[in-house]
Amino acid sequence: MASKASLYVISGPSGVGKGTVCKALLAREKSLAYSVSATTRSRRPGEIDGVHYYFLSKEEFLRRVEAGEFLEWATVYDNYYGTLRPFVLEQLEHGRDVILEIDTNGALQVKKLMPDAKLVFLEPPSEQELLHRLVGRETESPEEIAKRQQCLAYEMSQKEYYDYAVVNDEVERAVDEIRQIIARRRSE
Ligand code: 5GP
Repeated sequence: MASKASLYVISGPSGVGKGTVCKALLAREKSLAYSVSATTRSRRPGEIDGVHYYFLSKEEFLRRVEAGEFLEWATVYDNYYGTLRPFVLEQLEHGRDVILEIDTNGALQVKKLMPDAKLVFLEPPSEQELLHRLVGRETESPEEIAKRQQCLAYEMSQKEYYDYAVVNDEVERAVDEIRQIIARRRSE
């Protein structure tokens, strides 16, 4: 009998490359469903509503919190981010494995609610490398970078609560390691 569908949470500090790794993972593992999060942060150039995020006003986000629409939600760098519960549950019910790309607080909320979820902590080869990437991607202002830098030590300390730690030294290698985690789980 096929084993039941699993929820995988890819998390880790800001700038570690969660987005890049998830994109490459989804390109390789077509059967995975990616959960598009909701956020109150403003849209960056090139981002599409409903593809990268559902961009919501604070009022609308809080209305959905009240309505119980989020599996988890957290305040990250002064904005709200959340995972929409119906999408995740529907995919799992239909036997599809789901990937969440969320911050460390959200990841631990998911683990509490769904202990079978597999938490993958994506870590940088070094903190210096991570700061270099944060500055290099040019998507945040210097103030935002400073904020993210302040959170780094806390985010790194969360690693111990995860099921797996994967070093993002090279995207394809990190993706292969996550694919092995998925393959092992599927064969259980
Ligand atoms: P960014 O604004 O750079 O896209 O994301 C900022 C942080 O929010 C990242 O660490 C990202 O993983 C996290 N994030 C994105 N979506 C969610 C979500 O639905 N829930 C939580 N808790 N964090 C999220």
